[in-house]
Amino acid sequence: RWDSIWLAGLKDTDPATIFDKIIAGEIPASVVKEDDHILAFKDINPMAPAHILVIPKDRNGLTRINRATPEHTNILGRLLVAAGEIAKDETLGFGDGARIVINDGPDGGQEVMHLHLHVLGGKKLNGQLG
Ligand code: ADP
Repeated sequence: RWDSIWLAGLKDTDPATIFDKIIAGEIPASVVKEDDHILAFKDINPMAPAHILVIPKDRNGLTRINRATPEHTNILGRLLVAAGEIAKDETLGFGDGARIVINDGPDGGQEVMHLHLHVLGGKKLNGQLG
């Protein structure tokens, strides 16, 4: 029992990010969807007419998608379901289709080390990925 308490404190030793402050309500964000597990908010520097970020509230080791383990299956499913719901929300500017992107690590262009899904849309996107 004491082992699990001790290990709980060491579970996620990566530095906190700006997204923790958004989750805690310490800095403002334009939240579009929220439940006990996920938070979705408008990207402050949108790359498309509609650009929403979807994040797990409890990072739980998911600094980036390449840290995912079977332990994360539930939260990863929740993130995708939320992204799919957002991607058809006309009130957010989405039309018939969107692009859902996960940047992974430095070579993938990831800057904030708290897993996040980009939901991009509001115009017809080209077919290029990189
Ligand atoms: P990149 O910045 O290269 O897109 P990421 O995939 O790590 O790398 O994306 C982080 C995203 O978080 C960026 O799109 C950025 O605009 C967004 N962002 C950073 N700070 C905030 C904030 N305070 N509120 C909303 N979005 C933010």
